[in-house]
Amino acid sequence: MRALCARMNTLEALKKTWITKLGGIEFYILPIGLVGSYLLASMDVISLPVGAGLTFAISLMSAMAYHICVYYTLKCPQCGKNLSKFNNGKNIPSKQLHNGFASGKPCRHCGWQPEYGTLAGR
Ligand SMILES: [Zn+2]
Repeated sequence: MRALCARMNTLEALKKTWITKLGGIEFYILPIGLVGSYLLASMDVISLPVGAGLTFAISLMSAMAYHICVYYTLKCPQCGKNLSKFNNGKNIPSKQLHNGFASGKPCRHCGWQPEYGTLAGR
């Protein structure tokens, strides 16, 4: 039983699961924004190009915010190095990164691994 639950999600260990939620919100902004601006345009509140433009701008901004959070705020608690970059400094592709986080992959730099209890007392 202990062996089964020893590994935990990296984002959970770092208490940064909200980053996943941020990525989720971004996914909804585009369809909701476009439907919303279509409705507002049909009520003559704003013109459709303005609404669509705003939607794309907000969507782009949230995508950038997500990118910055993922690639600049996730640091290894042991060695302080970036968990989202390869040793050569390149960004790890999003999908590979999230699979790694979900399975609690060790830090590429020092081998730190998110385990239950390792952050206790911090
Ligand atoms: Zn490390």
